[in-house]
This record gives sequence, C-alpha cells and structure tokens, in this order.
Amino acid sequence: ARDAGLKLLREHALIAGEAVTGDKRIAVDDPATGEIIGHVPDLGVAETERAVQAAHDAFPHWSRTDPHKRAAFLREWARLIDENLDGLGGLMALENGKPFEEARGEAVYANSFLKWFAGEAERLLGDTQDSPLGHVIVTFRQAVGPCALITPWNFPAAMLTRKLGPALAAGCTAVVKPASQTPFTAIALVELAYRAGLPKSVLSVVTGDAATIGGVLTASPLIRKLSFTGSTPVGRKLAEQCAPTLKRLSMELGGAAPLMVFEDADLDLAVAETIKGKFRNSGQTCVCPNRVYVQASVAEAYANKLAEAVAGIPVGPAFEDGVKVGPLIEDKAIDKVEDHLKRVVASGAKVLTGGERHALGGRFFQPTVTLGGDDALFREEETFGPLIPVFPFETEDECLEKANDSPFGLASYVFTRDLDRAMRIGRRIEAGMIGVNTGLMSTAVAPFGGIKQSGYGREGSTHGIDEYVEIKQVTLALR
Ligand code: ADP
Repeated sequence: ARDAGLKLLREHALIAGEAVTGDKRIAVDDPATGEIIGHVPDLGVAETERAVQAAHDAFPHWSRTDPHKRAAFLREWARLIDENLDGLGGLMALENGKPFEEARGEAVYANSFLKWFAGEAERLLGDTQDSPLGHVIVTFRQAVGPCALITPWNFPAAMLTRKLGPALAAGCTAVVKPASQTPFTAIALVELAYRAGLPKSVLSVVTGDAATIGGVLTASPLIRKLSFTGSTPVGRKLAEQCAPTLKRLSMELGGAAPLMVFEDADLDLAVAETIKGKFRNSGQTCVCPNRVYVQASVAEAYANKLAEAVAGIPVGPAFEDGVKVGPLIEDKAIDKVEDHLKRVVASGAKVLTGGERHALGGRFFQPTVTLGGDDALFREEETFGPLIPVFPFETEDECLEKANDSPFGLASYVFTRDLDRAMRIGRRIEAGMIGVNTGLMSTAVAPFGGIKQSGYGREGSTHGIDEYVEIKQVTLALR
C-alpha cells in the first residue's frame, strides 16, 4: 500500500493541466517519522493568477456543457478513483499519518461525493410559477462561476471531492489550494480528473504559501465563489478578504462538539460510538466529540468503561497492521493536546487512562480519558487530538446549557433511549448536526455544516449543490 501510494506521488502543481515545478519548494513529511516524503513547488502570485485566468476562460464552455456530460465525467473520475483506492489510501497514510485502512476508507468516502453529485448534475431542477402580472416565471439554476476551493490536511481527499463534486456538477470551474501538509492527494486526484476527460483549464491545483495564494484567490474579481474548510480565524480573514468582490462563501470552520450521555442510555453503545467519533483521524476532525457530558448517576460507570476500552486502542504508524490511532499532524498539535490535558487536570480532573506522550515518541500521544474538572476550555477550543474529557451533569437543562454555551455550533451527539428527549435536544441544540445514539454521521447524502462561529453553508446532500448555483428567473409575457 505504501508503494501504491508512492506511485501516485507527483512533485508538481497542475495549472490548467500543465505540470508546474519551481526552484522554491515545500517539503512534505510523514507525520509518523518526520521523514520527508517529497516536495511541492512553492508557487506565488503569478502562477495563481494563471490558474484563475484559466478557470475564467474555461467557464463559459464548461458551464454550458450538457449536465449529463458533466455527470458522465464525474462517474468516469469516480471509476478511476475506485481503481486507485489503495494508492490514494497509501498516499494519505503517508502524508497525513492516518492508519492505512482508515485512509483507504476515506478514499471510498471521498468518492461517494462524486457519485452522488453526478446524480445531482442530472437533477438541476428549476421551477415555473404563474405571476400576478399574468406572466409565467421560469427559473434556471446556473453555475456561480470560477471557484476557489481551500482545503485542510485532515481529510485530504474527502474535503476536496465534497467541494469539487458539486462545483463541477453545477458547471463551475475551480482553482484548488490544498493544505501544504497534504498536497499530494489533491494533486493525484486532479490528475485522475484529467485522465477521466475533464477539460484541463477547468481545474487547477496550486501549491505554496497559503496566505499568498489565498490573497490572490480572494482578491480576484474573476473568482465568484470561495469554499473554505479550516479554522475559524482563517475563515474569518478570508471572508473579510472576499468582501470587496462580494464573493459567494461557504465556510466549514471549527467545532467544539458536545457529546451528551443520559442515564437512560445504552452505555456500551455510548462508549463504542464515542470512540468511533473521537478517534477518527486520531482525534483530528472538526466533528470529533470535544467534551463529553454524562449524567452524574452513570458518570463513573460510563467513564470507567470508556477508559478501559480506550486503553486497548492500538497506536502506531499508518502501515502497521491493526493500528487505529496514528500520529498527530505536526509537533504543535501534540503541544496543544498536552496543554489541554494539563489545564483540565489543573481544574480538578482525574486521568483515567493515558495522559502522556506515547512511548513511540515523535507526534504520538496516548489515547486519554479524564473525568471531572472544568469544561470551559473545551467549549472555546477544539483539542484536535486523542483526549476525551468527561464532565458529569445533573439535569437535562444543565447539560443543554453547557452544550450550547460555546461560540461554535458544528456537530453534537446525544445518547438516550428516550425519543422525546432526543427530539427535545435535537430541536434545542445550537449545532448544524446532531447524532442520536451514533458517533458517526458524515455521508455524501447528509447535509454537513455548522452555525455560529462554525461557519455557514452545507456540503453533501441535495443541498450541497445550492452553494454552487445561482437562481436565474426568466419572466415570459405569453400572449
Ligand atoms: P488547520 O488548523 O486545519 O491547519 P487552517 O485554517 O490553518 O486550519 O488551514 C486550513 C487551510 O487554509 C489550509 O489549506 C491552509 O493552507 C489554508 N490557509 C491557512 N492560512 C491561510 C490564509 N491566510 N489564506 C488562505 N488560506 C490559508
């Protein structure tokens, strides 16, 4: 799998199909070892402008292509991805550090967006309406225009296809800027898109300094839309930079997901699902439970079961058999987990399992569970690592108040057997998503997105394509 990954590794950006290298380069490492696996060119203003111009020039033709042809292209791209699941999984395992099986699973998940949005391209429905003026109004849903897509390192494939699927289905062209920690997956995917027959000027991937490239993309009047997944401070800054040209925006930003366990819950299920949600990508997802609230009467029981299960999770490098938790993406990510742990312990929490850097060294941290202490920090900041702080609560109202007392509102989870309670909480929770008795809810058919400082816009589902279309009305005065 490692070799299959290396086979797809290309050390160049792709601007309108052209492989672009440069003297200035950025090194990409394997988070498990810190070893350099390759370089990408550190491109700047001129190359980004070239990619923007290509996206602009390609837009009139691509946006007017028969949507069934765009769907056919997406299906062919998906077919090539299916043929390269080991390679793409291997590449992600290399540059991101996630366990290979999980990385391969991401390739499958990423591909589900292309398959889904191929169907959506065929269903870009408009509507008709009689007007009080005696006219007939017909609406068309038309592509927004050339898009800038800026993606993070935690899901190098899925965050890209979740944007490119609907963008290309709608008839948009795009310039992609992948995270510098994980550029190779994006480059490999774009190369497969060309092989699937995408006109090359429709899509470019530019690597280099994020602020420089982001600056050009956001300032350009030719770019009509920005879709960003990343941190809230960067999202805010990009929104500001987009204000002068009034771009359409989708912002998938940070979270601080609460996971609530009530005394009527199936505790074994709650434990198993907490682990599934928390340790995906080694705790580095914006929907990972960041703080667990458990009703006091079952807090000890839940926390002890959780600690026991967490203690048995195999940690290691991506290509080792059976590994479930890998290294964190970079050194400062480890520092943050350590800092959060120190602070929750200082506020009175007990460490039930883990609590230290892992014996493997480097960027590995022990999967950790704490009980008690102050939850305030975890409402404000996401740990983005393998630490589960558990906090007891007494009443449903108290739990909801804590869950909602956060600037963020992305994912949330509740465990209860009481349907009324689940629906009460589902309606009152300040989050874009809530899982009831499940720790995983991301699929291509589910609307993904947040409220408050977690951003706006929805990805996936029948709503996902709305982010990439404008509604045009044609009023017909019929005689
Ligand atoms: P994370 O904590 O996930 O690294 P970031 O928001 O820093 O979150 O990064 C997400 C993406 O945004 C990455 O592709 C990164 O390169 C890019 N990015 C970071 N800073 C900027 C910026 N000033 N302008 C444009 N893109 C940026």
